Amino acid sequence: MLTECRIDLDAIRDNVANLAARAPDAALMAIVKADGYGHGMVPAAQAALDGGATWLGVAVLPEAFGLRAAGFEVPVLAWLLGPGEPVTQAIRQHIDVGVYAEWGLAEAVAAAVEAGIPARIHLKVDTGLSRGGATAADWPALVTAAAKASAEGTAEVVGIWSHFAYADAPGHPTVARQVVAFTEAVEVAERLGVHPQVRHLANSAATLTLPAAHFDLVRPGIAIYGVSPGPDVGTSAEFGLRPAMTLVGRVVLTKRVAAGEGVSYGHEYVTRAATGLALVPLGYADGIPRAAGNLGEVMLDGRRRRIAGTVCMDQVVFDVGEDRVRPGDEALFFGPGDAGEPTAQDWAQALGTIGYEIVTRIGQRVPRTYPDRTG
Ligand SMILES: *Cc1c(COP(=O)(O)O)cnc(C)c1O
Repeated sequence: MLTECRIDLDAIRDNVANLAARAPDAALMAIVKADGYGHGMVPAAQAALDGGATWLGVAVLPEAFGLRAAGFEVPVLAWLLGPGEPVTQAIRQHIDVGVYAEWGLAEAVAAAVEAGIPARIHLKVDTGLSRGGATAADWPALVTAAAKASAEGTAEVVGIWSHFAYADAPGHPTVARQVVAFTEAVEVAERLGVHPQVRHLANSAATLTLPAAHFDLVRPGIAIYGVSPGPDVGTSAEFGLRPAMTLVGRVVLTKRVAAGEGVSYGHEYVTRAATGLALVPLGYADGIPRAAGNLGEVMLDGRRRRIAGTVCMDQVVFDVGEDRVRPGDEALFFGPGDAGEPTAQDWAQALGTIGYEIVTRIGQRVPRTYPDRTG
């Protein structure tokens, strides 16, 4: 295999167990959107359930249908719906849907009538992210409409939920404010006769750092894959979380070149002395950010080496000096760090982004492999 995105499913299982132990009074919904953050949605979901998750969460309906098609029968929430989506099909497959506006509720009710089964809905309140969710001003009307649907038997309000703006900055004043706003929104709902089974607010960062936000269910994503939500939260190792993804490319060509040779497009790297070059077939189409030219590091032949020059669509070059690098040698782009390779978090910090973007952008051309589980 030229390239490989190796996934440690035991790590996902163990990370979920770790997170579940931090929120002992809450259920755990493993977030497996975006193909399980690039790890493969179905294997990641199974590993998460093995670790103690009892819910699965995804952004969009096609992802939820994929989970059902794979045979998962646990509760599944898809929270990001637009007008005209196949909500009837979702209801028939017992998929819970997020509702954040009256049009969404109306569509869920219509779909419930068509399916002859109440829609399982999670009402979303905007507590300060100003992204999804009903504002505090719109919330009472949405809840009132949901109470009516519930009384008529067309909707079951399974959850009330919201999402943090700044959970990756523990102690940021908005975090406590959002917990208060969420608590108030739940109180408004209860006064209007809506009593959800689960209240949920915590992403990975809040699951790790803010027990007051755990409520009845936590929704960690990035942490189940062993990547920290951000440097202010801490490193994954500090929480006993293990990165599950290792990105590997294998050297396909080595050659000698003279001093002063320009390397890769635009000659952004120029050899200082006669040296050896090694070519590895991973490029920006595979998820290596183009911004990593002359910046990104890999572990290759026992040493950290920096990409020489521009990242191409399909390949990158390394200046390996006099070292005996050979075709077939493994370049570890990132992983848990056991062999001295960088982590996804290291890549994120070097590039001014977040670990989420590093792991979710690995292209479909890179095969996901699942080495034997150790049990
Ligand atoms: C992605 C997402 C999560 C998981 O967030 P992490 O920071 O990856 O833990 C939880 N809830 C919602 C609504 C999300 O969009």
